Amino acid sequence: MKLSNSYAHLGESFFETILPEPVNDPKLFLWNGELAGELLISEQLELPPEELAEIFSGNKLLPGSEPIALAYAGHQFGHFVPQLGDGRAHLIGEIIDRSGERRDIQLKGSGQTAFSRSGDGRYALGPAIREYIMGEAMHALDIPTTRSLAVTTTGEAVYRETAQPGAVLTRIASSHLRVGTFEYFAARENRLALEQLCDFAIDRHYPELEEGGDERFLQLFDKVMQRQIDLVVEWLRVGFIHGVMNTDNTAISGETIDFGPCAMMGTYSPKTVFSSIDRDGRYAFGNQPAIAQWNMARFAETLLPLIDKNEKQAIETLGARVETFSSLFKQRYLQMMASKLGLSKLTSAEKALILALLDRLERKRLDYTTSFDRLTRSLSSQSVAQQLIDELADWYADWRLRLTSQEEDIKTIQSRMREANPVVIPRNYHMELVIRECLESGDSNAAASFLDVLKSPYQATSNTLQYQVVPEDADDGYQTFCGT
Ligand code: AMP
Ligand code: MG
Repeated sequence: MKLSNSYAHLGESFFETILPEPVNDPKLFLWNGELAGELLISEQLELPPEELAEIFSGNKLLPGSEPIALAYAGHQFGHFVPQLGDGRAHLIGEIIDRSGERRDIQLKGSGQTAFSRSGDGRYALGPAIREYIMGEAMHALDIPTTRSLAVTTTGEAVYRETAQPGAVLTRIASSHLRVGTFEYFAARENRLALEQLCDFAIDRHYPELEEGGDERFLQLFDKVMQRQIDLVVEWLRVGFIHGVMNTDNTAISGETIDFGPCAMMGTYSPKTVFSSIDRDGRYAFGNQPAIAQWNMARFAETLLPLIDKNEKQAIETLGARVETFSSLFKQRYLQMMASKLGLSKLTSAEKALILALLDRLERKRLDYTTSFDRLTRSLSSQSVAQQLIDELADWYADWRLRLTSQEEDIKTIQSRMREANPVVIPRNYHMELVIRECLESGDSNAAASFLDVLKSPYQATSNTLQYQVVPEDADDGYQTFCGT
């Protein structure tokens, strides 16, 4: 197994060549053997944990590794920052996986780079465990996401509000191209670099556009926007709140990336927000589609010089594309909600039914995941159905009537619903409990049990129940944090 690094061949303005900073006493805390198998890191699979810890803490380089820290910019909470970049991450290389896809292997928390500003380049164990679990949970939920290969503790303390154990997360991504990468070069009016980036993105993620000639830039925009739409629809399906949808955290691949202050919505409300710094609710659950569109407008701006020499014409062309976001989103969203309710058609009657349910969930302060799980189960359980009749009254009867009119086998409907409605999600309450247990015990047993259940989120096992329910006030006052 040998790493390559196609990004390192783009040119010096795209990154800094820099080695990870060695750590004191690396220990393997979490290891994703299944993912390692997918990545064909076969020789590594045989290695003892001590050796894996040396490699995935950054102390030892894999053959072919050319570590770099990537340059990017970004709009943070609406304000443009011309230089961000990997301030605590090293792309150690790329690998072709079992299915022939090129994947990035990145260490996060691996030391300072030219982009660190005043940051220490490190990652605390708690947030590293959280990112590891969230990435794997999202993957199991069938949502495009970066994956987690390993968490290695460093044996060194990092200082946040208090001293905390340090860790390095190994993240696997189909690439680390962000909207912010394009913004970095647009702000520097580097047209050549922008064209290089587009071709890199096309080659990596959208090879079908390679023959597109000058049209390929516009086609790239359409593809990226479609994947953002698909992604945010999926977030809304499971109640995921990214928490910091800045353009530097928006991947061109359409994967979920950078699980900083992310959280899961319990009680249904579009206004749900947990991030301590998001005081205006910019990144609230229900605001995510509007923000994704806003981010796509920023992406469109970076492409202007490639679309048309006449800037006015370019703005008109791309502006029209960005405007289609809302209607495209709404259609995909309603289709997704219809699948959560087992509805096979999407006429005005089904749309009204969807909106009426959401209205009821919000007014009655009902749990999003539990409600859809119970609706699914109610098709084969009279007692669950009775509870829902009590809670949702006439809505439930209307819904069942609709399903009956579809003239489909109820089992078929139920299995369609099950594919859209998880029985278990990584709830905030359990996530915090698991992290605390790991930090207190110094071992990863609590995370391993949680991950084991989250691996099959659409199927209840004997261990699922303990992660399904939370105390009624569990999310009250709950806060998540950035940059930890
Ligand atoms: P994030 O909030 O993780 O998306 O990071 C935003 C920016 O801050 C990126 O450029 C990060 O590399 C940088 N950053 C966050 N934490 C640190 C840290 N501890 N040391 C250096 N840079 C950091
Ligand atoms: Mg980030």
